[in-house]
Amino acid sequence: MKKCEQLYEGKAKKVFATDDPNLVIVSYKDDATAFDGMKKGEIAGKGVVNNRMSNYLMSLLEKAGVPTHFVKELSDRETLVKKVSIVPLEVIIRNVSAGSFAKRYGVEEGIVFDSPTIEFSYKNDDLHDPLLNSYHALALKLATKEEIEKIKAMAFKINEVLKEYFAGLKVKLIDFKLEFGRTPEGEIVLADEISPDTCRFWDAETNEKLDKDRFRRDLGGVEDAYCEMMKRVFGN
Ligand code: ADP
Ligand code: UDP
Repeated sequence: MKKCEQLYEGKAKKVFATDDPNLVIVSYKDDATAFDGMKKGEIAGKGVVNNRMSNYLMSLLEKAGVPTHFVKELSDRETLVKKVSIVPLEVIIRNVSAGSFAKRYGVEEGIVFDSPTIEFSYKNDDLHDPLLNSYHALALKLATKEEIEKIKAMAFKINEVLKEYFAGLKVKLIDFKLEFGRTPEGEIVLADEISPDTCRFWDAETNEKLDKDRFRRDLGGVEDAYCEMMKRVFGN
């Protein structure tokens, strides 16, 4: 597989073309941003953790019957994935109140929900990713009704698989963000990444934060938190 020109540089990853038009290489950076890009920094080793963890979780999900973009891990920071057309929705599942949910609805963090919630944001940096519902997504033609139903069902299934997996590592899966894409055949697959950048992880016993909130909130021990999650997933 030949790595060709850079197609895109985002906040956390670069995307490169390959000699196969249906495949791209994603390269994970250590760059970190928060609060709509207002806060910028670097988390040493983050790219490696996110790449390896995301690939591991996508493989786990594939085994559970969830189609993903994952093809092959090429190195510590680079992965071959199916090139998809990203559905411009950030799909957020929550099991426990935290972050913008707690703020928006004026509740404390840590309330365990009876059943998980789902919400969508319009993935649009210029508009600052506004919250929208499935009717808005349909009106804006961001996805078809069938695609939205499929995405919802996949997101809840992913939550069940991941919640159980992380519980086994003594980690509570509080909330997370997913992105989906369309393959050339029109299949909806899980894309982008699943990592401490895109999930909230709390230690099951102490509720210690083991994710990007340590960076967002200047809690210190940012690198240690990413390392700890790496240890729980891969051992040593
Ligand atoms: P951002 O664009 O938000 O700054 P990243 O730095 O993570 O985010 O950049 C990666 C980009 O690649 C994102 O826009 C993401 O939607 C896109 N992407 C993720 N997976 C795929 C894929 N399989 N095919 C094409 N694009 C993808
Ligand atoms: N999230 C993300 N990218 C975003 C927004 C949110 O990965 O652009 C993740 C975030 O890490 C958390 C979940 O989605 O696990 C819910 O985030 P929330 O809406 O609480 O927003 P935040 O507190 O990050 O503003």
